[in-house]
Amino acid sequence: MPCRATLSQLVEILYAIPLNLSSADLAQQAVGIGTDTRSLQPGEVFVALRGEKFDGHGFVGAALDQGAIAAIVDQAYEETPPRENTGAFPLLQVTDTLQAYQAIARWWRDQCGIPVVAVTGSVGKTTTKELISAVLATRGRVLKTQANYNNEVGVPKTLLELEPDHDYAVIEMGMRGPGEIALLAQIARPDIAVITNVGTAHIGRLGSEEAIAQAKCELLAEMAPTGTAILNHDSPLLLPTAATVWSGKTISYGLAGGDFQGQLLDASTLSVEGMQFPLPLPGQHNALNYLAALAVAKSLNISWQPLQASLAVELPSGRAKRHELPNDVVLLDETYNAGLESMIAALQLLAQTPGQRRIAVLGTMKELGERSPEFHQQVGAMAAQLRLDHLLILADPEESAAMAAGAVGIATEEFDGSEAVVERLKQLVQPGDRLLFKASRAVALDRVVDSFCQEF
Ligand code: ATP
Ligand code: MG
Repeated sequence: MPCRATLSQLVEILYAIPLNLSSADLAQQAVGIGTDTRSLQPGEVFVALRGEKFDGHGFVGAALDQGAIAAIVDQAYEETPPRENTGAFPLLQVTDTLQAYQAIARWWRDQCGIPVVAVTGSVGKTTTKELISAVLATRGRVLKTQANYNNEVGVPKTLLELEPDHDYAVIEMGMRGPGEIALLAQIARPDIAVITNVGTAHIGRLGSEEAIAQAKCELLAEMAPTGTAILNHDSPLLLPTAATVWSGKTISYGLAGGDFQGQLLDASTLSVEGMQFPLPLPGQHNALNYLAALAVAKSLNISWQPLQASLAVELPSGRAKRHELPNDVVLLDETYNAGLESMIAALQLLAQTPGQRRIAVLGTMKELGERSPEFHQQVGAMAAQLRLDHLLILADPEESAAMAAGAVGIATEEFDGSEAVVERLKQLVQPGDRLLFKASRAVALDRVVDSFCQEF
């Protein structure tokens, strides 16, 4: 059963003003906290969040009709009641409903008192969260962030799903600017903080890799001194930046060094501390992600022994997804998103995938600010360095030109529409070829994958 709180407990936690609630009403216990009337269960408390596209205050009446025992609203609500009989609604009035939602989550997390693992970093958060969850699931019941709910609403939403028989929680934390990770850490109060790397995602907003490193390390600055930091040794800025804000227990992991230094014995076997593990996901980047998961297990005194057998890990779509097509054609679907580091990781994975020819279909990486052309050129150069056979580019004009300029010596074609890419691929692809599709989410390259798979 998710978050349980009586209305009077909520009044106390939130310094809320109860409206239209008798003392008998206040003794009622909520069976959960909801923010969306489409999934609200009878007996829950409804929190009216104000978002960019919607305002939950317009759904208070509907939530109560659906059996919510009360609604948490802000002071502006009474001024613009959505229905005439608003006065009779059982309400808890607060200054800010998002802060209230977060405060309930923090309180509930403390009530549950289980180890909380927080995962942040420029890339690999969701993947590492899934790997850690799979590892911890060998030992107990795990609550994990669903999909990519890693922001100021998603983190509390996840924590509010904690149930008394959960043994561990693994919480993904994303950010777009400074201060955001600090807030999420204050809500989740992690016992273990994992930082997967410092890269260039959102550099357009943050300005520099140093600023990104500092923003990620807010997770450590906010952690209790008894916590454990688990940090990627191979990400150059991470350990030095962490040391400026954290002096508690630290475990570093890496392929180039670190407390837990892994070695890839072959494409699918990782060796660390004299033990061998089958890799649940392909690629060197996923070996690093798995080392983080092994380090989390160690710090929670969970044996590595069961992990020497294979571990099934299913990622949300568009990440490390392998489509086996007719004629031994294999398509690596990395269309979920792309930045400089994840492009390079995916290109390396393509280069290491045995087969006939290697063809990359790459699109724009967004949100890179003024360094965008430079990074696109680097991606092109990496495709050339890895000696791929073909590079098909579907990107904005400046980015497309930069990527093509980097790709010296390999067959490169630029496109301005997805249909043309599909048509070209139908002519180009031969039996045994290996294909990689990767771009920022906004490019929607997954649709190109769908059409190609259907028509091939
Ligand atoms: P978001 O910021 O969108 O939540 P994320 O940090 O959760 O992203 P994932 O969804 O785990 O990242 O992975 C996105 C892509 O990054 C993957 O498809 C893969 O190409 C790449 N990737 C995953 N782990 C790493 C890593 N450790 N280093 C470099 N690239 C990685
Ligand atoms: Mg994610």
